[in-house]
Amino acid sequence: MSEPREQIQSSVKALDQLPQSKVIQCSRYYQSKPMGPQDQADYVNAVVALETELSAQNLLTHTQAVEQTHGRVRKAHRWGPRTLDIDILLFGQRVLSTPELTIPHYGMKEREFVLYPLFEIAADLVLPDGESIADLVALCPKNGLSVMEN
Ligand code: ATP
Ligand code: CA
Ligand code: CA
Repeated sequence: MSEPREQIQSSVKALDQLPQSKVIQCSRYYQSKPMGPQDQADYVNAVVALETELSAQNLLTHTQAVEQTHGRVRKAHRWGPRTLDIDILLFGQRVLSTPELTIPHYGMKEREFVLYPLFEIAADLVLPDGESIADLVALCPKNGLSVMEN
């Protein structure tokens, strides 16, 4: 795979160029151990804040297109190696559950590689269920997560 940091940089730029959308913040990059199969390289993670007029469903269509243009091929197995994964963590205070889209993202509250970068860009955030990002981070072990040097 090409350099994962460049992959993120390029996809953040692509998000910023989506219609009616603008990236307003991006966390530093965090290196994490893979979920699931361990016989794959470490992951590089970042969280961005996107201001958008798109609907959540429409945003998903666009983020999946960005994944495709960054070389992602959908596989039968979840959590296997991939070139890029863009998850929609939150959509304002909206709560959504459709076959294609669950918001807030179902796994975000337990994932250190989500919570720590999210906390970095939104320390005062409160989730739709009333839990604060600060409390969630305090409860979440780092599991080897580290900020990457530039
Ligand atoms: P995980 O969902 O555990 O992080 P993953 O990101 O590897 O695993 P994918 O294969 O990328 O899983 O996505 C599977 C499906 O999840 C997508 O086709 C999409 O319809 C659905 N999905 C549901 N909620 C969301 C969300 N909040 N953000 C992105 N995709 C979502
Ligand atoms: Ca994911
Ligand atoms: Ca995904």
